[in-house]
Amino acid sequence: MGSIDLHLHTNASDGRFTPAQLVDIAYDRGLKIIAVTDHDTVDGIEPALEQAEKYPALALIPGIEMSTYAPGCEVHLLGYFIDYTHPKLVSFCTRMRSDRIDRARAMVSKLKGLGVDIEWEHVERIAGESNIGRPHIAMALLERRCISVFEEAFELYLGYGKPAYVERFKITPQEAAKLITECGGLPVLAHPMTVDNYPAVIADLCAAGLEGLEIYYKDFTREERQNLLRIAEKMNLVATGGSDYHGIDDTAEVLPGDAGVPENVGEKLLARARAKGAKIPGSLERYSC
Ligand code: AMP
Ligand code: FE
Ligand code: FE
Ligand code: ZN
Repeated sequence: MGSIDLHLHTNASDGRFTPAQLVDIAYDRGLKIIAVTDHDTVDGIEPALEQAEKYPALALIPGIEMSTYAPGCEVHLLGYFIDYTHPKLVSFCTRMRSDRIDRARAMVSKLKGLGVDIEWEHVERIAGESNIGRPHIAMALLERRCISVFEEAFELYLGYGKPAYVERFKITPQEAAKLITECGGLPVLAHPMTVDNYPAVIADLCAAGLEGLEIYYKDFTREERQNLLRIAEKMNLVATGGSDYHGIDDTAEVLPGDAGVPENVGEKLLARARAKGAKIPGSLERYSC
């Protein structure tokens, strides 16, 4: 197990655990640097930072994972060291929150049209205060026994281009990268192997201020990592990584700290953050570069 994990979800979006529980898990697992990166929301950051104060050995980077579109696919952009109080970021999150509700409602209607009968109130109950997303619909499908395993929800209905899929408010990866930069953060491309034509997307993103590539990621092969490392070196990008832990199924998920992120990644990212004048949380100040 490593000591760095830069991709973690809480129940502020589609993770199972509260921000405080996630921080406890990270501490118990001996992690030294973590980033909370919820989908299109910063609601989990403050409670996570508060909990992290109890653990001087654990540094927490405020982050986000923004949902965007490139032609033909979804692209997720991570933002690290963001000023989570920045008015532009707050307004982006507010817009995404209401769009996510409209979209989830539309997906439930589409499912009904396909003869898959789940109730909106059921999905709403599962999501609670979280920034609603497809996993909450998938849970409702599972609870109603419309599917037999969680992933089936995406394979049959909710995955990109599947019959109950609904597009969201569209922002391009470049727009997201610029927004993250404007809010004092470092944009990093999440799980690049899930992006169609990723070399072209990376090249476009570099022109929009991209700082890193998420290379140490659960299901990337050795070859894929090596290829991405070459691209990162060529484009002067930091090779980051994380488990993308959601806490939904510990028997199937990569656990916090288990993504194979090398020890020096935290310092490399921190050096970029300092060079960009990003606000560094006090807990990270002890890391020299
Ligand atoms: P949304 O935020 O509504 O776009 O939903 C995206 C989230 O759904 C991802 O972050 C994952 O948590 C989950 N997800 C997407 N595809 C799959 C899949 N094939 N199997 C399981 N979970 C998935
Ligand atoms: Fe997710
Ligand atoms: Fe993602
Ligand atoms: Zn994620």
